[in-house]
Amino acid sequence: MISQLFRIMVLAVAGWLVSRLIRGAVRPAAPERAPTPRTGEMVRDRVCNTFLPRSSALVERVGGETHYFCSERCRTQFVGGRPTPS
Ligand SMILES: [Zn+2]
Repeated sequence: MISQLFRIMVLAVAGWLVSRLIRGAVRPAAPERAPTPRTGEMVRDRVCNTFLPRSSALVERVGGETHYFCSERCRTQFVGGRPTPS
């Protein structure tokens, strides 16, 4: 029968679609953006006690110690003890 053949074809296509969907869902996270291993490292801004990723922190070396700051204002406050005139 033609109708039976048609039903088999429909089932085959449906099964293929389902398997495709499942494979798409299960697929291990493709690294589209390479994860930067150091991104997770958090540093503390001593002025306002904010934790922020090291990559986005301002760095100031004072007396052999490295200090991190969230903003130029915090950095200036730490180094000079007075806020920047803005
Ligand atoms: Zn700060």
